[in-house]
Amino acid sequence: MVQAVAEVFGVKFSTGSMPEALDYISEAIRQNDKKCRFCAFINADCLNLAYKNVTYRAVLAQADRVWADGIGAAIAARYLKTPVTDNVNGTDMLPLLCRAGYKIYLLGGAPGVAERAAERLTATYPEVRIVGAEHGFFAGRDTEVIDRINRANPEILLVGLGAPRQELWIAEHLSELKCRVVIGVGGLLDFASGRIPRAPKWMRKLKIEWTYRLYQEPRRLFRRYVIGNPLFLWRVLLHGRNAPKSH
Ligand code: UDP
Repeated sequence: MVQAVAEVFGVKFSTGSMPEALDYISEAIRQNDKKCRFCAFINADCLNLAYKNVTYRAVLAQADRVWADGIGAAIAARYLKTPVTDNVNGTDMLPLLCRAGYKIYLLGGAPGVAERAAERLTATYPEVRIVGAEHGFFAGRDTEVIDRINRANPEILLVGLGAPRQELWIAEHLSELKCRVVIGVGGLLDFASGRIPRAPKWMRKLKIEWTYRLYQEPRRLFRRYVIGNPLFLWRVLLHGRNAPKSH
């Protein structure tokens, strides 16, 4: 990676801005070589997963770009004296990719979600070209899915299977994918489809979007946020940049 990086629990990620991330994507598409760039977002929850999961850490190390998503990664990076300049997350990036008019394929979410996201995005951003959309519950049918993606010939493939499943899937199939850029986007398609409403703007400004997510899905997200956030900060104090030795 030729870029400014921070490192938390052995995971290196970019400290750059959203415009830099977009430049990277546009350059990858412009170059039109045979390489498919692997990009990922990392938030506090992902870093907690990476703390425990050595395979996920290894896969993130193979990524061409890892972007710092949210307040947790920013706090950790600032504490470690490598502050990030921006919150580079999928929800803010998606409209920018759409406005740029890229050919995008959506993979992930429950049946119907990616298709609904495609309809909404096309209605909102007439410039975008969504060249395919399908759900993310395709276990064992990877080859068929990859064939469909490659036939649709997208420039950007968004894979929303949740972390770390999506990153492991991307790393396993990277050499078979013919797109220019593939990005793991977690639950982004649920938001883009309108299935899960986003937090109001004022909450986003105060950087407490996670409290809204917790209110929407308290059972599923209790462990992730109420236990996960303090645990994450504790681990940053304890281990900082270093991967834990015992995992
Ligand atoms: N998902 C999927 N295939 C699977 C498991 C999950 O497409 O086999 C989708 C799920 O429907 C949801 C997303 O992956 O849209 C995971 O969302 P979550 O908010 O947990 O992901 P995160 O953003 O935390 O990685």
